[in-house]
Amino acid sequence: MTEKLKNYIGGELVSAQADEALPVTNPATGETIAEVPLCGGADLDRAVAAAAAAQTGWAETPMKDRVQVLFRMKRIIEREQDRLAEVVVRENGKTRAEALGSIIRGVECIEYATSLPQTACDKVLMVGQGVECRTQRSPLGVVAGITPFNFPFMVPLWMVPLALGTGNAFILKPSEQTPLGGLEIAAILEEAGLPAGVFSVVHGGREMVEGICAHPGIAAVGFVGSTKVARTVHARSCTAGKRVRALGGAKNHLIVVPDANAEMTASNVVASVTGCCGQRCMAASVLLAVGEVDHIVDDIVGRFRKMRAGVDFGPVISAAALERIAGYCARAADGGAELVVDGRELVSPDAPAGGHWIGPCVIDHATPEHEASCDEIFGPTLTIIRCKTLDEALEIENGNAYGNAAAVYTSSGLVAQEFAHRAAAGMIGVNIGVPVPREPFAFGGWHDSIFGEGDITGPGAIDFWTRMKKITTKWQAQKQTNWMS
Ligand code: NAD
Repeated sequence: MTEKLKNYIGGELVSAQADEALPVTNPATGETIAEVPLCGGADLDRAVAAAAAAQTGWAETPMKDRVQVLFRMKRIIEREQDRLAEVVVRENGKTRAEALGSIIRGVECIEYATSLPQTACDKVLMVGQGVECRTQRSPLGVVAGITPFNFPFMVPLWMVPLALGTGNAFILKPSEQTPLGGLEIAAILEEAGLPAGVFSVVHGGREMVEGICAHPGIAAVGFVGSTKVARTVHARSCTAGKRVRALGGAKNHLIVVPDANAEMTASNVVASVTGCCGQRCMAASVLLAVGEVDHIVDDIVGRFRKMRAGVDFGPVISAAALERIAGYCARAADGGAELVVDGRELVSPDAPAGGHWIGPCVIDHATPEHEASCDEIFGPTLTIIRCKTLDEALEIENGNAYGNAAAVYTSSGLVAQEFAHRAAAGMIGVNIGVPVPREPFAFGGWHDSIFGEGDITGPGAIDFWTRMKKITTKWQAQKQTNWMS
């Protein structure tokens, strides 16, 4: 019998009050590895009550002591990283190297949060004769994070360390497709000495998400997922008077110009398209081939054709995802494009039966209006649009609805500068296919890739999880008075 997962509330695993459950499957084999309860209001109320009870004491714990929990959290993850990577492989389907990479990247977010006493130190200034003004950063209270399937360990760590380090109690609602990573984080924080109730995990889908957005006991919501859901989470949370930052989907464009380093560009583009089987919000999705770059395109196509399922790429998350991606291949020729690499044919007979396998796909000579040029496919597909000039390529990039990342491949500083200045995306790469700004820089896109101001990591995230008090003080009785007196 498969295990029915429990919520983590008040420092312990507790059975869900909801009866309904979904299977959690291993995407490589289709095998059911657990059942996740689809919880609703009663389970959420319980988590919010436990979090509220614990938050006051946690907020009063000096920040320097709070971050000691994060230092211990980091060490426990480093000790356990191989086992944790296995959990990510099993529930998400990443290759081992990708899973381990995602854990290490999550650890960087903890590392950044351990510096909170330095980075979030308050300010003080004498603003008048004997009058001192200082800032005091306060936590928001009970806050929540809702996360997607594609990075079950790393994306929660974009939020959890900073939210906890700044004195909040945090309720995590992981993806119902990959709920195990969140429970691992709970166990790690418990071992690290986090007081019971300060971190909770509640399982569920739409009903739980809508409950979080509406709950009067939750002060702020961090969301990462698709644009459709990000938009509604943002609207619902705003209506309920909450602070919300909702990161959505992406359609990242890479521009390749003739002076690009051919070998570096080809290997980089291939890695960006196929890493995590294309299920990354930073994955390259559209290649804007400017002028005579056939030698680079041919190299990319050749490399894709040699990729092996289970070795060079993992499966996609579900049968529904596989069907969606295969549908784009099947319809590639509609509108005059050409399917030059068909990932449906690249799955070797060795790939386990029952898994959700598809290899890299290349749709060449697409128009900017083609569905493969516009939709977030979220699989290992590359759409190629041929352009005559950099201006034309930039116009296409700037015209897309999303704005997560964009990159250029060139050996010209001038082209790189022009691109970085004009591309309409929040994260820009020059000769880098996955331009994730590592700590202390902040992660976040523009346009339909984010709803709500600011970034999900870095300095803006410290501001997001806190609010500022400005305290003006005078102790000296002054003869001279002014408007501040
Ligand atoms: P998703 O939007 O389907 O799910 C995200 C979360 O929302 C999950 O916890 C899920 O339970 C919940 N949810 C799903 N449908 C809902 C609904 N109708 N109402 C309320 N809640 C709902 O996203 P996903 O498929 O898990 O993840 C892939 C998406 O996430 C892609 O679009 C990808 O680009 C995006 N993503 C974005 C970033 C970023 O930084 N911008 C990072 C990672 C993933």
